[in-house]
Amino acid sequence: MSLVVQKFGGTSVATAEQIHRAARRAIREKLAGRRVVTVVSAMGDTTDRLIRLAREICDAPPRRELDMLVTTGEQVSIALMAMAIHAAGHEAISLTAAQVGLVTDSAHTKARIHSISAERINRELDAGRIVIVAGFQGIDPAGEITALGRGASDTTAVALAAVLDAEVCEIYTDVDGVYTADPRLVPEAHKIDRISYDEMLELASLGAVVVHSRGIEFGTKYQVPIHVRSSMTDSKGTMIVPETPGMEDIVVRGVTLRRDLARILINNVPNRPGLAFEIFDRIAQHHIVVDDIIQNVVNGGSEVDIDFTVELDDASETKAVCEKLASEMNVGTVVADDQVSKVSIVGVGMRSHTGVAARMFRALAAAGVNIENISTSEIVISVIVRREDGEKALRALHSAFELDKGP
Ligand code: ADP
Ligand code: ASP
Ligand code: MG
Repeated sequence: MSLVVQKFGGTSVATAEQIHRAARRAIREKLAGRRVVTVVSAMGDTTDRLIRLAREICDAPPRRELDMLVTTGEQVSIALMAMAIHAAGHEAISLTAAQVGLVTDSAHTKARIHSISAERINRELDAGRIVIVAGFQGIDPAGEITALGRGASDTTAVALAAVLDAEVCEIYTDVDGVYTADPRLVPEAHKIDRISYDEMLELASLGAVVVHSRGIEFGTKYQVPIHVRSSMTDSKGTMIVPETPGMEDIVVRGVTLRRDLARILINNVPNRPGLAFEIFDRIAQHHIVVDDIIQNVVNGGSEVDIDFTVELDDASETKAVCEKLASEMNVGTVVADDQVSKVSIVGVGMRSHTGVAARMFRALAAAGVNIENISTSEIVISVIVRREDGEKALRALHSAFELDKGP
């Protein structure tokens, strides 16, 4: 019997009526003869609210306690979803990550999934139940509750789909698919019918929050077809699939904005082997993700300036870590610039088309946007810009690559 994993995001279960609607979708699949596993996020803006509450109590809440707090949101919605299915006369059971055996590492607030046991879920499915799993949460080997990072219910869903060998993982959300840009920021954006895992992974990592990037990593690794679609309609959304030959015809598939970044600059670091290692090793010990590292030689070669970007939320911790290290090593000064954003263009077509960077920089120049840093990979070009220029840059690139003209 085929199995489907359906994930409902916070905006799709924000009210009792929406929970009933999600429940009806699950029941419909069940009645069509499929085994159904649903993954549910916290209702509406619950997670934001819980984080705000934590900050009202404490400036820097312990990460373990933050996870203990925020994961409660998903426990509420799975129970309500199970009740909605019961109310409609069908059998369902809600399960937390601990009950499922979804084991992560111990990196609180951004834990990574290590393993998932299919045993309990399969037992419940065999008993004819719809299984409802809490998104976003895990349990570490010591039994501590962990959270997988903002937006990570998608990752729970795709990882479950991989383990259960699902036919498809459906991501139900408040837009009807993946667009060429965030439709809230670029009203001319178009829905993309099919996109490759590689492109979607880059879009997601670079700011398209519609699917969590680590979910796409699981999708790629285990070749799970992912269907991103609206929870309000039955229309077909976006299929995330392996790359097919024609996909390279389109140069740029989408553009993204990562608004909340900070740039950390460490000046006058002695130019000798091992220092970059010491800096980034120390940052890694704090589970902080760094990006866009640049090193410039200064003072006739005797010193280097090193700078890199981090999530805005990690900026003060990163600065503190770097300042401590700088004073221990008696080197450099540390400066944090918390007013930067990153704008990117993504497309597998870049591999086979020339002049893409020139076209991008021309559009930014015409829009009067100053570029503070450029980074590239095979299918991405990104620039760091002032935060106030971010949306203008995004729109300029969307139209420069004619994404507003549609497929
Ligand atoms: P959910 O609660 O369903 O997880 P999210 O807010 O996490 O919903 O993701 C959906 C939102 O992602 C949309 O409302 C949209 O504003 C935003 N988004 C950003 N980039 C894109 C994109 N390229 N295509 C579609 N939506 C996008
Ligand atoms: N509720 C969590 C969040 O808001 C997880 C998710 O929605 O995917 O980040
Ligand atoms: Mg989301």
